[in-house]
Amino acid sequence: MGDTMLKRKCLSLYLTTLFLLVFYVNIINATSLPLINTIITIDPGHGGRDSGTLYNNILEKDLNLEISKQLDKELSKNGAITYMIRNKDTDLSSIYDSRKKRGDLYRRLLLIRNNKSDLYLSIHINWYKNSNYQGAEVLYNPINTKNELLATSIMEEFKTTLKSQRNIKKTDLYMYRNTKTPGVLIECGYLSNPNERYLMSKSTYQRKIAKAITKGVVTYIKKLNKDKYIL
Ligand SMILES: [Zn+2]
Repeated sequence: MGDTMLKRKCLSLYLTTLFLLVFYVNIINATSLPLINTIITIDPGHGGRDSGTLYNNILEKDLNLEISKQLDKELSKNGAITYMIRNKDTDLSSIYDSRKKRGDLYRRLLLIRNNKSDLYLSIHINWYKNSNYQGAEVLYNPINTKNELLATSIMEEFKTTLKSQRNIKKTDLYMYRNTKTPGVLIECGYLSNPNERYLMSKSTYQRKIAKAITKGVVTYIKKLNKDKYIL
């Protein structure tokens, strides 16, 4: 066999292998990435001038951002297209806003809408005067039927993976009653509870929360698709 012939054979073998590899990777992607083509806006609560709830130097806004970053990673690993409303310690109010908090929330709403999000996830931390209160919970506005489905799907994961004994609740807060895009408000735990405060400041537990939320979102998307087939 001549040198050129050998080279050509090697090249064709290389190209066939490459083709098969690309082909299989695509099949794997389609089957193992349940959130492919799903656009998700992650909304880390508070930021900048607004620290949210706090305990000594532990600020809600910082924990929200840490958990959101882990969530961004987990959702992306599952094929979702994600948008983070903030990646650093900042708020979205303008110096010209007479009501800073309202301006901040209004811009968050606009981003959710402009991203053409399939859903959004607002990440927060709870606080209550009774320090015995603990557990992650999900709040939703009944502006559409999908919100309750999303809330239930995530809450189920909180019950199983995080051993939360809380339940879904309705909320009428400004942000959640002013968008028709499906989404929920997630309270990851109570900063007022010493045990949960300790856990939430650890990256391992933050990842656990992120994984639980992601699993809940996957369940929600599967349920939606199932309904589509029935119709
Ligand atoms: Zn908050």
